[in-house]
Amino acid sequence: MSSERIHARYVSEHIGEQIILKGWAQTIRDQGKIAFVVLRDVTDTVQLVITKNDDTDVLETVQNLSTESVIEVTGTAQSSDQAPGGREVKMDSLTVLSAAADLPIPVVEKEGETPHISKRLDYRWVDLRKEETRTIFEVWTEMERAFEEFCRQEGFIEIHSPKIMNSPSEGGSEYFQVDYFDEKAYLSQSPQFYKQMAMAAGFENVFEVGAVFRAEKSFTPRHATEFTGFDVEMSFIEGLPDLISWEERMLVYVLEQIQETYGERIKELYGTEIVVPEIPFPRIPMNEAKAILAERDIPSKSPVDVSPEEERALGEYAQEEYGHEFVFLTEYSTQVRPFYHMRSENNVTKSADLLYRGLEITTLAQREHRPEVLEQQAQEKGVDPQSVDYYIDFFRYGCPPHGGMGIGPSRIIKQMLGLESIREATYLFRGPKRMSP
Ligand code: ATP
Repeated sequence: MSSERIHARYVSEHIGEQIILKGWAQTIRDQGKIAFVVLRDVTDTVQLVITKNDDTDVLETVQNLSTESVIEVTGTAQSSDQAPGGREVKMDSLTVLSAAADLPIPVVEKEGETPHISKRLDYRWVDLRKEETRTIFEVWTEMERAFEEFCRQEGFIEIHSPKIMNSPSEGGSEYFQVDYFDEKAYLSQSPQFYKQMAMAAGFENVFEVGAVFRAEKSFTPRHATEFTGFDVEMSFIEGLPDLISWEERMLVYVLEQIQETYGERIKELYGTEIVVPEIPFPRIPMNEAKAILAERDIPSKSPVDVSPEEERALGEYAQEEYGHEFVFLTEYSTQVRPFYHMRSENNVTKSADLLYRGLEITTLAQREHRPEVLEQQAQEKGVDPQSVDYYIDFFRYGCPPHGGMGIGPSRIIKQMLGLESIREATYLFRGPKRMSP
């Protein structure tokens, strides 16, 4: 007899024993003489059974039970050829811990009856009960763990930079201004400046997992107004190739871990294969990319940047040409890069974007660490050097050459699982028209 609660996944290890289960009554089937309840907990589902002949009041409780109520059950685990997973639990007692009212959205959806995403987000806590949605966050947990583990193994120091700033961290117009006592404050658009400060502080290599705020009024499947960012900054790099090869190794590590732990489940639930990429990933300079796109008749809005459609087409190209899901797009023009990206000749920056299955997931760049060059580049970009003087100051007292990257984990998950939007890859999405729940 096991008097401790066990989870549904482990019922088959307790055949013949009396066990306690706790979870949600996902489906209830009352056939008069016999009734079945499918109990779901965070690990799995298991069928519970009670018959009229059993000398308990459980059948009556089941008959009055509402779908998705939270229950506690004591019963005997037994093998059953008919039950899903080959095991079920014959109930001895059933207690309703929390009765559920009529559901606003179903947990078990009928084919083709998935509610609209906005309704699903309105009732996110019910939406998240589904195995497919919960799995997204189990995979995310693994991804974040592997990312952090990789950074720690490489001796990186973890930082948590403040999100309250006295000036917009990236400039432009995509910032949120908030009241801060008698002053105005701005929500951090990225840890950019403060992670670079860690280079001047001699931390050499740092990483951060934190909130990023962008006042982007876009309703695309890849933009949120608040998202989690993975940020990395590295000192004493020789150039962009160091950053690229670091990210390659990191992604191989992360995808290996995910494939190992969740590969099968992802295939089953999302019908997609986790592919551990080969190193090196293909690298295509912007000029070449534009020529490839022109050959494929993909319309170009700008000679120096790529649209989502062009990103998708480049993803297809990388797959066809190199059999690769990733591609680094290099040699971005200074026109579309911020003043702090280091430049090489011909108005080209030492920066790149990484596309995964045809969507940008990372921007990488070597930073300009020479204060006088920074001042000049700021001026050229129309940024008042005075307004960023506090930042340029980081580089006035000795700062190594450095560079880093900003990675969007919700975009990685979206692409990895083939989700429609980062709305689904985010625990609670924030967009121009969504602040609750
Ligand atoms: P985009 O051009 O797609 O708007 P960006 O160039 O503004 O992205 P960066 O500022 O380089 O993006 O940010 C680094 C990474 O953070 C991006 O590669 C992406 O993965 C992620 N990211 C950027 N903006 C968003 C957003 N609004 N919502 C979710 N993730 C984002």
